Amino acid sequence: MHGFWGRAALWWLLSGPRVPGPTPVRHSSGGPSWTQERTLVAVKPDGVQRRLVGDIIRRFERRGFKLVGMKLLQTPENILTEHYHDLRRKPFYPALISYMSSGPVVAMVWEGHNVVRSSRAMIGDTDAAEAAPGTIRGDFSLHISRNVIHASDSVEGAQREIALWFRSSELVDWQDRGPHSSNYPA
Ligand code: UDP
Ligand code: MG
Repeated sequence: MHGFWGRAALWWLLSGPRVPGPTPVRHSSGGPSWTQERTLVAVKPDGVQRRLVGDIIRRFERRGFKLVGMKLLQTPENILTEHYHDLRRKPFYPALISYMSSGPVVAMVWEGHNVVRSSRAMIGDTDAAEAAPGTIRGDFSLHISRNVIHASDSVEGAQREIALWFRSSELVDWQDRGPHSSNYPA
């Protein structure tokens, strides 16, 4: 295309959108709309025995959360008594401590936007009978005393539990540039 009509077509193409398009929203990392949280998730001894660790990690990764700490451990009793301190007067407490000591646990720290609330939704209700299908407990647990997984229930609780289960040197603060991140595209 040459001459006047060619120049007119070029002008049309270059003069920008004729209707206002959607404004791309670039979230700045650390901004209020992308508040980053961390939470403690632990695959309990029944989950490890049943080889559910991979399935559980896959669910958190698929959701877009970022793994910043992970270890397999036979949990020392002092960690368990501190972790479940608020439940120490409950009738099920001795059985709970013995269940949690019955084999290794996989403790993890996951990071991401609203990860505390989201992970509680992902694990489902404490009581297997109330846990919705599709949740981890709703898919794998039959009884409240063998409910496969732990996740912190508040941001403050998560901070306390992470400090109890992990040394700060065991947490890795890596740069997230994936599509789930507020840094994407970088
Ligand atoms: N638990 C139990 N019997 C009960 C209530 C709780 O064995 O009647 C155990 C169960 O393993 C549960 C843990 O105690 O996950 C901690 O209880 P909590 O109420 O904090 O539930 P969660 O936060 O794990 O959903
Ligand atoms: Mg709890």
